[in-house]
Amino acid sequence: MSKKALIGWAVILSMGILGNGCVAPPGGGGLSHARGTSLTLDPWGHRPGPMGFHTVIIDAGHGGKDPGAISRTTGDREKTLAMDTAKRLARKLEGSFRTVFIRSGDTFVDLDDRVAMASQRDGAILVSLHYNASPNSGVAGPETYYWRVDSHGLATRIQRGLESLSPRRGSLGLRRRRLRLTRNPQVPCVLVEFGYLSNPTDARRCADPSMRERFAEVVAQAIRTQAAQGDAGTGPKPPPLNQPLSRPTDPPGS
Ligand SMILES: [Zn+2]
Repeated sequence: MSKKALIGWAVILSMGILGNGCVAPPGGGGLSHARGTSLTLDPWGHRPGPMGFHTVIIDAGHGGKDPGAISRTTGDREKTLAMDTAKRLARKLEGSFRTVFIRSGDTFVDLDDRVAMASQRDGAILVSLHYNASPNSGVAGPETYYWRVDSHGLATRIQRGLESLSPRRGSLGLRRRRLRLTRNPQVPCVLVEFGYLSNPTDARRCADPSMRERFAEVVAQAIRTQAAQGDAGTGPKPPPLNQPLSRPTDPPGS
């Protein structure tokens, strides 16, 4: 048996002992949840969603050399719509929360740098704002992504609100997915896709400033409710899941 195989067996054995299919987090530590003793502190976000937070980190997706999705219907670029929505959201949160922009202009910021900037903040949440695209122009509707247990409540609230504004046709809705901006930050974080720029109906809706104003209001209201009520009314929490940090080299959807 090779050394590699031995390490593999050690992992399998430890998974059996821990009983929840976990692998150890990088750098060790944070396994208290695996022994069923505490869900309050660990690097995975295996804890209830936050209440009483005062800082909202707003990440307008893409920027600079990275336009994100481009609509064939309207010509809109995702990076521009995301920044517009980010500013609308910040205005709505003014007076109640401190807001921090990951990018404030049309600049390129690497995803890992966005993660590092967000993780410096204590008592904060991160919302990353995007507009979607698919090779299938029939796919439409909002999607909200999260990974951490402490981000499920906010993601649920946002997705519910967006679905009250926009019908879904083939889109995925609320999804737990290990992305760099959902798995890697050390703060509760969600990634919102407001609609599909590749779908003509969605693209026209997303191009409408009054609709983006409503998108921003839905996200702002979800943040206000989360800060006031925590996870109340957002349903059962997802199970703890320990996975490695998301890397640029990971296959899509992994
Ligand atoms: Zn995007």
